[in-house]
Amino acid sequence: MRAQPKGSHFINGAWVEDESGAIIESIHPANGEVIARLHEATPEIINKALEAAQRAQADWAARAPVERGRILRRAADLLRARNHDLSVLETLDTGKPLQETLVADAASGADALEYFGGFAATVTGQTIPLGRDMAYTLREPLGVCAGIGAWNYPIQIACWKAAPALAFGNAMVFKPSEITPLSALALAEILCEAGLPAGLFNVVQGRGAVGAALATDARVAKVSLTGSVPTGRKVYAAAATGIKAVTMELGGKSPLIVFEDADLDNAVGAAMLGNFYSSGQICSNGTRVFVQRSVKAEFLEKLKARAARIVLGDPLDESTQMGPLVSEEQMTRVLGYIAQGQGEGARLVCGGTRAGESGCFVQPTVFADVHDDMVIAREEIFGPVMTVLDFEDEEEVITRANATDYGLAAGVFTRDLARAHRVVGQLQAGTCWINSYNLTPVEMPFGGVKASGVGRENGHAALEHYTRVKTVYLGLGDVESPY
Ligand code: NDP
Repeated sequence: MRAQPKGSHFINGAWVEDESGAIIESIHPANGEVIARLHEATPEIINKALEAAQRAQADWAARAPVERGRILRRAADLLRARNHDLSVLETLDTGKPLQETLVADAASGADALEYFGGFAATVTGQTIPLGRDMAYTLREPLGVCAGIGAWNYPIQIACWKAAPALAFGNAMVFKPSEITPLSALALAEILCEAGLPAGLFNVVQGRGAVGAALATDARVAKVSLTGSVPTGRKVYAAAATGIKAVTMELGGKSPLIVFEDADLDNAVGAAMLGNFYSSGQICSNGTRVFVQRSVKAEFLEKLKARAARIVLGDPLDESTQMGPLVSEEQMTRVLGYIAQGQGEGARLVCGGTRAGESGCFVQPTVFADVHDDMVIAREEIFGPVMTVLDFEDEEEVITRANATDYGLAAGVFTRDLARAHRVVGQLQAGTCWINSYNLTPVEMPFGGVKASGVGRENGHAALEHYTRVKTVYLGLGDVESPY
């Protein structure tokens, strides 16, 4: 097997195996090849990881922040130095083309480690004058954090959670998606090599039940999930029982609004990026593309011509632009939505079928004449399926863009910047792009509103979600007691 790791789990700075756990196979979705066989964490393994994390955390929190940061920045350098191998691993595990993984996965993970590595030593509290007395605040780590990841950006998700957690003095037990279990293990090994003390970043494999065990364990102070809304509801509820802090990065059905004065070539390019990159398996994708009626025909014509040129194929070939979906199950789901779109009367502009006989490939698909009440315009498909909807005016499109339970992201294309700001001011979304789409640099907070999530990852905002404030009142005179 081409990507077999040295063990299923990484705990307390070492590889760990327990063959009594159920088997997890990592499958390369371009050809069905089993690239690794691992075992699900048993309750003993989960316990071992949590014990190790708890043991290591107090000493880590007591270290100088600049020292913690230095280790993370060293890990960022190692990730960058090994970017090629890590990208191949991610491509094998997810099916995403190497052309993408070389620039978007371990590379963005390294950015997070570098950013939070630098941030660590800048964290300060407040002093609060109170007349004779005073108070001050301290930013303390939360303790042991559980990270639970989705399968679309495995190493990026692991880094987006581990980097702030570790920078601010926490320990983490991370469970990758069972579909993409490999790169989090590589990250654990690299963190160790960079000098991270044993026990601070542990990886345990498993399906939902392993995630649920972490989310309900009394030793876990915080749960950070990237996943779907249904899973988010369960994990949020489980965490609530233990009054734990949460970050929930969930799904979306984001609007991308193209006004008639937009640069249409840029708008088409952004709509394609926001629907076809990673075969459409991106939470913040602008899957509801609202195009002002006067430019609809031109927009669709340009889109169709460019979509026809997308190169589908072997994701390990660097000239390939679109790989397979992550699994057969996901491909079947996406093809089901495409059939449903056709059944509902949406007009297929291009794509609409599986590509090739083997592998989980689906053609880039565009539906036009889509109505708000169609299932393909309401539900998250998580595949290369764009829906194009027409609109007449600004007020109407804002109302329709907001008419969803989701609120992860939104985009606006227009040359009228006053309108752009006015519109994003009214959109119910955690992240908005103006004349751009789907760029998520680590400097920028990212997260959803409404059913798309709670909390923010990245940027200064992450500090709020991986630390808590302790207030200290300092009495500087006699105690005034009536007794
Ligand atoms: P899932 O919700 O199916 O799974 C997410 C993770 O949660 C997996 O590791 C899963 O394990 C685990 N899990 C499942 N059930 C439970 C449970 N009861 N308790 C604890 N953990 C559990 O999402 P997918 O992996 O299918 O990822 C796709 C989804 O993720 C999409 O909806 C997408 O929008 C969203 N996403 C959101 C992002 C954001 O930042 N907002 C970014 C990327 C994706 P297992 O997979 O092994 O079952």
